[in-house]
Amino acid sequence: MIDLRALARDGRSVQRTVPVKSLGRLIDSLLEPVGTVTFEFQGECDDEGKLYVDLRVQGDLVLQCQRCLEALVWPCSVRNRLLLLRAGEELPEDELENDEVDALEVEPQTDLLALVEDEVLLALPLVPRHENCEPPVKADGNEEISPFAVLRQLRGKV
Ligand SMILES: [Zn+2]
Repeated sequence: MIDLRALARDGRSVQRTVPVKSLGRLIDSLLEPVGTVTFEFQGECDDEGKLYVDLRVQGDLVLQCQRCLEALVWPCSVRNRLLLLRAGEELPEDELENDEVDALEVEPQTDLLALVEDEVLLALPLVPRHENCEPPVKADGNEEISPFAVLRQLRGKV
């Protein structure tokens, strides 16, 4: 937990590398929770006293390709600029039309990992797919019996 407003006021930054496993809500979207994610929060206070953090998240996440169902390594690279607001504070008018910045209401203490999870979840591809791959071939035998095989069996019994 960290006071993001204080971080922004002082222009400090926090950088950490954490195991993917520690991003709990992300795990359901992954084929395997392996590897690490590195994130950085860089605080900034502008001339008008507005507080921002620039957030960067980077790491390779193992997703499941929705075509061949094999592992797909997705290089996660998120960058976002967040304007920090107090709970209940209105978004300043000049920011309403600024698409570059997302507003974030922050509590005095912010859970950085939860914020990183949110950003990565938003960035995940909806339908992850390799550029070139084939749907899986059905296993021989059990799953599908060709009509010819059935016919041969019937003939054998006659
Ligand atoms: Zn694939």
